[in-house]
Amino acid sequence: MTAEEILKRYFGFETFRGFQKEVIETILEGRDAMVLMPTGGGKSLCYQIPALMKEGVAVVISPLIALMKDQVDMLRDVGIAAAALNSTLSGQESAQIYSDLSEGRLKLLYIAPERLMKPSTMELLSRMPISLFAVDEAHCISVWGHDFRPEYQELDCLKERFPNVPRLALTATADEQTRSEITTRLLDRPRSFIASFDRPNIRYRMYEKGKGYLDSIVQFILGEHMHESGIVYCSTRNKAEAVCSYLKKSGIDALVYHAGMDNELREANQAAFFDRPCVMVATVAFGMGIDKSDVRFIIHVDMPKSIENFFQETGRAGRDGKAAESVLYYGLDDLVQQRFFIDKSEAEPLYKQVSLNKLDSMLGLAESVGCRRMQLLSYFGETLAGPCGNCDNCENPPITRNATEDAQKLLSCIYRCSKTNGLGFGASHVIKVLRGEVSDKIFEKRHDELPTFGIGRDHTMKYWRRILRQLIAKHYVNVNYHVSNVLTVNERAKNLLHGTETFLIRVEGDKQLASRKVIDHDDLDDAEQRLFAQLRQWRKLCANQNAVAAYNVFPDATLIQIAKRKPLEPNQLEGISGIGEKRIERYGQEVCEIVRQWSEREQTLLNREI
Ligand code: ADP
Ligand code: ZN
Repeated sequence: MTAEEILKRYFGFETFRGFQKEVIETILEGRDAMVLMPTGGGKSLCYQIPALMKEGVAVVISPLIALMKDQVDMLRDVGIAAAALNSTLSGQESAQIYSDLSEGRLKLLYIAPERLMKPSTMELLSRMPISLFAVDEAHCISVWGHDFRPEYQELDCLKERFPNVPRLALTATADEQTRSEITTRLLDRPRSFIASFDRPNIRYRMYEKGKGYLDSIVQFILGEHMHESGIVYCSTRNKAEAVCSYLKKSGIDALVYHAGMDNELREANQAAFFDRPCVMVATVAFGMGIDKSDVRFIIHVDMPKSIENFFQETGRAGRDGKAAESVLYYGLDDLVQQRFFIDKSEAEPLYKQVSLNKLDSMLGLAESVGCRRMQLLSYFGETLAGPCGNCDNCENPPITRNATEDAQKLLSCIYRCSKTNGLGFGASHVIKVLRGEVSDKIFEKRHDELPTFGIGRDHTMKYWRRILRQLIAKHYVNVNYHVSNVLTVNERAKNLLHGTETFLIRVEGDKQLASRKVIDHDDLDDAEQRLFAQLRQWRKLCANQNAVAAYNVFPDATLIQIAKRKPLEPNQLEGISGIGEKRIERYGQEVCEIVRQWSEREQTLLNREI
């Protein structure tokens, strides 16, 4: 059978996606391949199909037991002889698989790396024909990657032990350095296939965490994503529990998932998530290898550890290609906490440094003033032709402001305070001094006598925290995690203090998620607001049906103008900005129908009121 015939017969697809075909051909030629494809891109077919076309058994190395099981179930379902060897099997089950294997009854064997490396397994495999090795989640081999697994290290030996078996390394996340590490350790002059990491149907938004952010999330879900599935990622188990109960109290169908839960409940929640549209509140323990195509939104209530993590987690949204949303909330506390975790871990100093840099890059993305997607992709070495039009910074370009003087004030306050005890003080104390607030501690330390006392009265606590966070992110200020997070000024702040460097910040407009709806259409009256809401509803359906982002149908500004004009015939749409002839042709009738229905309903409402 040809690759196409197998694709159709076993998997039910008509055509190959992206470069699946080329990867398959490479393996059939006996060459190694490196495949970088975003999650959901279709990596598995790249080895499943050659496995069926070649003699012998294909060995698929995967760290994820759940994923192995899913794939094996799926393959068996369509009549392909596959099995998985991992720690969850009973002795008898393992024995069965070993015997199937040695008698050549298997086409695909999924195996965990530590199981593969057992001398008995290696011995058995070396005696039988192997069609290929596929190393899934290959980035786990990189010590400096974001998801290092020691058991992957030993895979180095495949190269020597099986020099004639083609090897395939697959991953969804790898920066340049990780890529080259994968190649050196696993592959021999591979052909590389790097798919675009762009996920155009995902809209990215990033907000600074304000007090009411949980309420914004509630409104976001109830208002725009009712009866849809989404995941809310939290950094800790406790937080996941707390956020989940908050959402539940607000009337949202929410479930929780983290590694600290009782197994049974965890599995039940996971199953429920697949069964019905609902919201999963989880730690990052949830999601690896989970393939649910209609997840409509991913919300991060804490900052992910790295851009790789962010990309992988948000990549679980919109796998069906329809419009999906990624919303991130970040704050100073996240940064301090994450840095603390890194610092107290037992990792090597160099690894800690890499982790801190990755965290900084993530913060850099969150605080960036340009197109999010361009920044995100540039991190993975990809260039986008221009701003995407489907992220918060594109939709509402942030205004920047020169805040050098404020940065200087804060820096000198940190410096003055730290000189009084030789150690430093924590953020809230320093900012209180700067704002000229009074507290017992301030009097006791006589910080009201410092020259910087009160020089920052003109700004709020929140403002100063924002400046501080950016000073920390840019390494102008150090946080000493060992001594209750006290602050000190770094050498690098010199230029800023001397005014030879400038410090720009984004001027936060009203960018909170929940308030997004009220901006720009204040001047619609109540009835028009209802029409506007209905137009938005229609636009969403329309976007989903056509698998395009909502703004591709019509931007908000256009819908507002329609709501004001209330056209009953398509030609009345002419002249509204954002609607050309083509769109009138395509959407005109539907839009007018919405207006007609709205107008009838309004009439009924009016009659009832009278
Ligand atoms: P990855 O491992 O890259 O995350 P998968 O191999 O699990 O992705 O594939 C993701 C989804 O895409 C699966 O549901 C799969 O059936 C589907 N898919 C893969 N290849 C094709 C194709 N050529 N045509 C249509 N659907 C495909
Ligand atoms: Zn953009």
